[in-house]
Amino acid sequence: MTDAVTTPTTPTPPPYPHLFRPLTIGGLTLPNRSVMGSMHTGLEDRIWHADQLGEFYAERARGGVGLIVTGGITPTRSGDLMPFGGRMATPLAVLHHRRITDAVHREGGRIAMQILHAGRYGVTPFKAAPGTEPSPIHPFKHIRMTEGMIRRTIRSYGRAARLARKAGYDAVEIMGGEGYLINQFLCPHTNDRTDRWGGSTANRQRFLVEVIDEIRRQVPRDFPVILRQSIADFVKNGQTFDEIALMSRRAERHGVDAINTDIGWHEARVPTIVTSVPRAAFVKFTERLRDEVSIPLIASNRINTPEVAEGILANGKVDAVSMARPLLADPHFMSKAKEDRADEINTCIGCNQACLDHAFVGKPISCLVNPRAGRETKLVLSPTRHAKKVAVVGAGPAGLSAAVSAAERGHQVELFEARDSIGGQFSIAARIPGKEEFHETIRYFSTQLDKLGVTVHLNTHASASDLADGGFDHVIISSGVIPRVPAIEGVDHPSVMTYAEAVRGEREIGGTVAVMGAGGIGFDVSEFLTTPTGPDSPAVNLKEWEQEWGVDDDPAAVGALTKPRPAEPLRQVYMVQRKASRQGKTLGKTTGWVHRAAVKMKKVEQISGATYEKIDDDGLHLAFYDEKDGTRTLTGRRVLNVDSIVLCTGQESVTDLVEPLREAGITFDVVGGADLAAELDAKRAILQGTEAAAAIA
Ligand code: NAP
Ligand code: SF4
Repeated sequence: MTDAVTTPTTPTPPPYPHLFRPLTIGGLTLPNRSVMGSMHTGLEDRIWHADQLGEFYAERARGGVGLIVTGGITPTRSGDLMPFGGRMATPLAVLHHRRITDAVHREGGRIAMQILHAGRYGVTPFKAAPGTEPSPIHPFKHIRMTEGMIRRTIRSYGRAARLARKAGYDAVEIMGGEGYLINQFLCPHTNDRTDRWGGSTANRQRFLVEVIDEIRRQVPRDFPVILRQSIADFVKNGQTFDEIALMSRRAERHGVDAINTDIGWHEARVPTIVTSVPRAAFVKFTERLRDEVSIPLIASNRINTPEVAEGILANGKVDAVSMARPLLADPHFMSKAKEDRADEINTCIGCNQACLDHAFVGKPISCLVNPRAGRETKLVLSPTRHAKKVAVVGAGPAGLSAAVSAAERGHQVELFEARDSIGGQFSIAARIPGKEEFHETIRYFSTQLDKLGVTVHLNTHASASDLADGGFDHVIISSGVIPRVPAIEGVDHPSVMTYAEAVRGEREIGGTVAVMGAGGIGFDVSEFLTTPTGPDSPAVNLKEWEQEWGVDDDPAAVGALTKPRPAEPLRQVYMVQRKASRQGKTLGKTTGWVHRAAVKMKKVEQISGATYEKIDDDGLHLAFYDEKDGTRTLTGRRVLNVDSIVLCTGQESVTDLVEPLREAGITFDVVGGADLAAELDAKRAILQGTEAAAAIA
């Protein structure tokens, strides 16, 4: 027997070397450079949600994130985000929070509690703020803080930090950005005081300095204190960079151990987190602080892949990255990155539909691409003991989630798709400028189908007899929708096309276009028709995007703002609807304003209250009526003399398999648009697909 000759091999370099270096913040060492940024989950406020919240964080700790920061916990009643919101002020609160910290520590994780006083951003009648300017986006008038209230509030921050430490938190984070109380003190926009808490920069910064001092008095020096600091307010009369730099230096001197940078107020009219904001758009603002402080700097906003995170850290100016929604979308983001399985990461697409849109109406948050987020204990994909042969018909979001979830449970899954690629409505959405992230979801599902051994039949229209002959035990019908073609005279004119044809590039589109329908898709299509694609698109070209929204990175710019200079639209577009109401009213709570502002910038003419009369060579004929006491009076007519007309007039379900399968006696579920076209909604579709797979007996 001869000894085996071993050839020396070069060790494979770790996939993201900068992301996986340890980092020390105060007395705490993190195993890597990732922080799960604070998100209000809706589970912070009630004692009976403690275990659910604990499991939510524990899942992220198992996934390997360096540090978790909780949703904002208020230090005192005047700072509540909502009546009786989560507060850290009593021994009972310590017991409640102990269940959360224990859950995280059992998994080897680390967790910081964020102390947040909402100031004028509270949705309560008891709220207090430094100045007189009311919040433009919240109900209730606030009380202007007296000297005594300011003193008591400062003490309450110290108490909250002391109690947080007692509850087992590894650190605290002071929320000093996003337009909450501390930010309200810092900015002349909301601080019109003439006493020692307002006026000069030093006076406006006094509140935060005293909060830091008070916290330091109540916790030992090695207990880490992080400051979430606004590095660009994006409001008029916001801070200049010089003021922010001064505050950062003072924070370091007074005992802050790291600065987690934050961008824009909730009332700002510059988007900061939606999908159309270019990735890592604000990192340069964080990097500018490098010459000012020596404590760790954490960058945030639109950092959603390990490649982006690694690129930021490799520059050497930023020490860690904060990702909140990306860890909602995939709790195992970090462990997958570490194991070089980044293609398996379910990427956050910045849609806000199940997270922030929920948080702003007081609903528990989840995630559109990962409906198990926040439902960790309820929506469980348990391994099956009786593997079944499952057919999924239609590879849109509902079908993809059903196929992947059923296969994950151990079922034998085949996926049938009539088109030549997977993605359904997502592959249309991904072509809209600013929605490129939707490709990531298709990439994720494609990887999972492969990994889980799902057989995918493209270009295949599965009939009931095919499915019966195939011996399937269960069918999930996710055959989606087709665009609705309304019964209008001349709708078959050559200038008319559906939104799917227009966006997929299947039809020529002229220089003047009428978009019929002003729902989510009407807005998307209007943006698609007026915005350049490719490298000049503001969605990927940061300079273009900054010009469009009026972002100014000059250190002297007040609030980092300048006059917006949007590019000229590619086409003249008219967006028409029958309802008389304002267009775009039903768009997402936190994203709708961005779409409404974008079509305005693109000079889209919005026409409401129209009746479609006919379409002919002259274009789209509209009529307008006044209705009074049941009588309709014609008030005007208008012909939109356009080259092209795009139908964005809703959808109809494709359900042709339902009856034949029923007759064949095959059990089935109907999910997504095939179930309900009227409220075509990817959030519901992915949830329904996952639930259907979880329920297969
Ligand atoms: P939608 O929001 O229901 O809008 C359909 C539009 O078609 C409405 O403007 C409606 O307005 C018009 N319409 C309906 N029936 C018609 C008919 N028979 N004849 C002429 N016009 C008709 O649906 P969608 O735009 O197709 O969007 C589908 C779903 O995806 C929605 O839930 C939407 O919220 C969501 N989505 C959201 C976004 C976003 O938030 N950015 C983007 C894309 C999709 P009138 O009846 O007043 O004319
Ligand atoms: Fe990201 Fe959308 Fe999920 Fe929110 S709902 S975490 S924005 S993918």
